[in-house]
Amino acid sequence: MSDANPAALKLKVTEPYPKDVGRILARLDPADMAALGVGAGEIVAVIGKRTTVAKVMPAQKEYRGQARVQIDGVIRQNAGVSLNQSVEVRKAAARPAERVRLAPQNISVRDTDLGYLGALIDGLPVLTGDKITVPLFGSRPADFEVTATAPTGPVQIVAATVVELARPSASGDTPPKEPGDHPVSYEDIGGLRKELARLREIVELPLRYPEVFERLGIDAPKGVLLYGPPGCGKTALARAVARETNAKFYAVNGPEIIHKFYGESEAHLRKLFDEAARTAPSIIFLDEIDAIAPKRETTVGDVEKRVVAQLLALMDGLSKSKHVMVIAATNLPNNIDPALRRPGRFDREISIGIPDQTGRREILDIHSRGMPFAPDVDLSAVAAGTHGFVGADLEALCREAAMSCLRRILPEFDFATQHIPYNLLTRLEVEMADFRAAMREVEPSAIREVLVEVPHVRLDRVGGLGDVKQQLREAVEWPLKYPELFRKLGWSRRRGSCCAARPGAARRSSPRQPRPRWR
Ligand code: ATP
Repeated sequence: MSDANPAALKLKVTEPYPKDVGRILARLDPADMAALGVGAGEIVAVIGKRTTVAKVMPAQKEYRGQARVQIDGVIRQNAGVSLNQSVEVRKAAARPAERVRLAPQNISVRDTDLGYLGALIDGLPVLTGDKITVPLFGSRPADFEVTATAPTGPVQIVAATVVELARPSASGDTPPKEPGDHPVSYEDIGGLRKELARLREIVELPLRYPEVFERLGIDAPKGVLLYGPPGCGKTALARAVARETNAKFYAVNGPEIIHKFYGESEAHLRKLFDEAARTAPSIIFLDEIDAIAPKRETTVGDVEKRVVAQLLALMDGLSKSKHVMVIAATNLPNNIDPALRRPGRFDREISIGIPDQTGRREILDIHSRGMPFAPDVDLSAVAAGTHGFVGADLEALCREAAMSCLRRILPEFDFATQHIPYNLLTRLEVEMADFRAAMREVEPSAIREVLVEVPHVRLDRVGGLGDVKQQLREAVEWPLKYPELFRKLGWSRRRGSCCAARPGAARRSSPRQPRPRWR
């Protein structure tokens, strides 16, 4: 790599600005940019276990003066580093790319799509061997590997760059991934900052630095139990931690373990743990653990009892192979055998809750990364109106909004060639009406769960019903706001209020009721 400026800095890797994800940007302190002799928009080499390139932008204020570089999961993977590790950053001379050859990883691309693809990757700096992630129109990103560039060395994709597709190798040594099988990184998870930090603390440290625990004479945690309602991101969290720690990930669904023949289920579990120990560092993810390890005193099946006993034995045996961590997930934490929750087994538990409004906004941002928005789209309003939606619902909502937008161009779609013209694709814009249509289609799955959130709707937003509002104020608001006054007056507050009305009656002003007396 030819360096115009030999200056290099050792900087600590930190989280990216959410909007930068997939854009191959490295944000640096302006003082560090000056020290390296790079301006905004210029290219730097980011050197960890591997060398990659990124475009420079100034860091956010809170990250300045701390010798940090903000890079996303794609650059971290290309440089072979994780959050909080150090990388060397130096100026790199990137030339405009004449040709770039890309190998699709999780999507099938035709030559006719190359114009559209070229527009999406315009401006990205790349080096042969790098992976790039292109946010597509829907919520699913497409991953590519850069297999060759002309000229060689760091290049920047420009409008004139010819994009070619790498043909699958004859040997087929790297099997293509499932469509949509996208490696999850920390930036792909929204609204779970605290939970993610806790999981990282429990999992990353023992997997990365097992010798620290040995030297201190502390037993490293072996198992973590994630519990919460379906679709709130338990699997995504486990996958992200595995990817960021470069650990091999073995995901098994509870019911998949149970086989009908005697001893087969235990053999399956033993094989899984053996394989994980052999390829350590690794993470075993047991989804729906309640299905394989239910409370033994309440189960009648012999298989389940044997599987629980086998799992307990395997967990106890894990201390010998310190590089294996087991993450289990369940929607029913109280249904699993208590012996599994004993210290030394799944002794750490993290509750993964339903996202609040800020979390919902973060998740919507993640799943709409590739969507071109019309000016009227207000994702904060969508987040405010999606009380009870979990991550999976919000992902479905974004997909539905994209579908609703796509329906507008369906009449122009040529079903015979199955080819969407490039100019049609670039014209697509998701509107607020698409999100409204999607909200009619997608139901919140967590509305029946206990959810504590301070709503933003005020009583003055409710028209009419003056008397009912006054009664509610007296029965609910006053006792909460002025408990001292109630105590002094010796009034005990009501435990509940019931509002009942016939459909439509709510809009009519209710006849004056006698004031309730405080009991
Ligand atoms: P289950 O208990 O049914 O297995 P889960 O809690 O493991 O559900 P996931 O499988 O992780 O849920 O989530 C389903 C999908 O929803 C994921 O593919 C992810 O894209 C999306 N999703 C869920 N939670 C989040 C989140 N917090 N941020 C971003 N995406 C999320």
